[in-house]
Amino acid sequence: MTASSLTLAAYLIAALLFVVSLAGLSRHETARAGVGFGIAGMAIALVTVVVTAVAGASALGVVLLVVAVVVGGAIGLWRARVVEMTGMPELIALMHSFVGLAAVLVGWNGYLEPGALDPSLEGIHHGEVVVGVFIGAVTFTGSIIAYLKLSAKIKSAPLTLPGKNVLNLGALVAFVVLTVFFVLSPSLWLLVAVTVLALLLGLHLVASIGGGDMPVVVSMLNSYSGWAAAASGFLLSNDLLIITGALVGSSGAYLSYVMCKAMNRSFISVIAGGFGAPSASGGAEVTGEHREIDAASVAEALAGASSVVITPGYGMAVAQAQYPVAELTRKLRESGVEVRFGVHPVAGRLPGHMNVLLAEAQVPYDIVLEMDEINDDLASTDVVLVIGANDTVNPAASEDPTSPIAGMPVLRVWEAGQVIVFKRSMAAGYAGVQNPLFFRENTSMLFGDAKDRVEDIVAALKTAAPAR
Ligand code: NDP
Repeated sequence: MTASSLTLAAYLIAALLFVVSLAGLSRHETARAGVGFGIAGMAIALVTVVVTAVAGASALGVVLLVVAVVVGGAIGLWRARVVEMTGMPELIALMHSFVGLAAVLVGWNGYLEPGALDPSLEGIHHGEVVVGVFIGAVTFTGSIIAYLKLSAKIKSAPLTLPGKNVLNLGALVAFVVLTVFFVLSPSLWLLVAVTVLALLLGLHLVASIGGGDMPVVVSMLNSYSGWAAAASGFLLSNDLLIITGALVGSSGAYLSYVMCKAMNRSFISVIAGGFGAPSASGGAEVTGEHREIDAASVAEALAGASSVVITPGYGMAVAQAQYPVAELTRKLRESGVEVRFGVHPVAGRLPGHMNVLLAEAQVPYDIVLEMDEINDDLASTDVVLVIGANDTVNPAASEDPTSPIAGMPVLRVWEAGQVIVFKRSMAAGYAGVQNPLFFRENTSMLFGDAKDRVEDIVAALKTAAPAR
């Protein structure tokens, strides 16, 4: 067997492991095994790439490779160890930016050092260069803006430049024209022009998308980073990079589509930088008096309830309240109360964020239901505990057509007998929209850090007499 057929065989095995990994990741029960297959595939891929590169490289090349792997690996390990679960979305956005930057550099390298090219393939090569640089540069700046928005370093409100759709469309048309010229006559200034255009387009596309649509942006940039990697794969003639990039690109695109459906947003509208989206400001003024409740009274209400639904949100992640929430759930179930969870598809700051936290705290999977599975049962539920959720339980989404989140399906918690909202203040959620739920007759606010308050309830439950 020759070295190149060994490499091909290793790539094929790695690619199969990635496919099996994705299949595993699609279900709770098999997710852990899925991660294992992914790690195995990546290890095979890395070893193969390094061995192949070392075999044909100069001594300087090998040193550079080792330094890059050691420095990159050390930074990656350090960040992964220290990152909080709440910091994951921005870390992921930052990593997407690296994939984008890598694709730009690979593209530029492909232009400056094309190697020996068959003249009949020159046009295709230059097409690959320009497409790779374009996708990479859009991913790079788009991901940096997403990082800044998700880490609250800049405001999450959408940028609304006059004629923003014309700007985006114009940039796409300019890209097509520049690509044609570049393939016909590959000059340096054309590549510079495409790079600058794509950097600006990425910046504008993501800056134009408002807070409420950020979940789609994260999965969309995930998809872009996949296509950027696939483009690099074509340039480097690396089949595994093409396959892996295509897997990431298409699964990210599908996830974006699923998220858009969950939020009742048009997929095209979101990927086109908020084209035709509802206004970011506006929404009816929300006024009224809210009622406060203390932990002991919540414990009493829970002890007297026969059905309880918990709807967790981003605040549960911030407070790391999942462990006491799991304990509260266990105690209530032991005393005969039916407890279930209602998880909104965009609760938290990552797809599946709440599911991961609840699984981490060992809440049984079978009582964790999706929004569509629980919504019709909320009207017959005695008590709903809204733990650090806000936008995902906002009635304005279904009742106020002028609201920036109008049309987004939400958990209809207000239909329950009693609603307890856990948060620290009356502040708005991620989308910056006021929440009329807090002023409803059947809603009470339990202020404070969600973890502390849930622990207070668990302690109070020991003394609370069941009212049943
Ligand atoms: P929100 O972000 O709307 O609200 C979270 C609430 O938690 C806040 O109102 C905050 O209120 C409260 N909170 C924060 N810290 C604590 C704490 N320590 N203890 C108690 N409460 C706390 O949450 P949702 O999960 O309902 O909605 C998610 C939002 O994020 C949606 O708008 C979604 O579009 C967006 N998003 C989702 C992504 C995803 O992939 N899931 C990605 C990007 C954005 P207070 O400050 O008063 O305590």
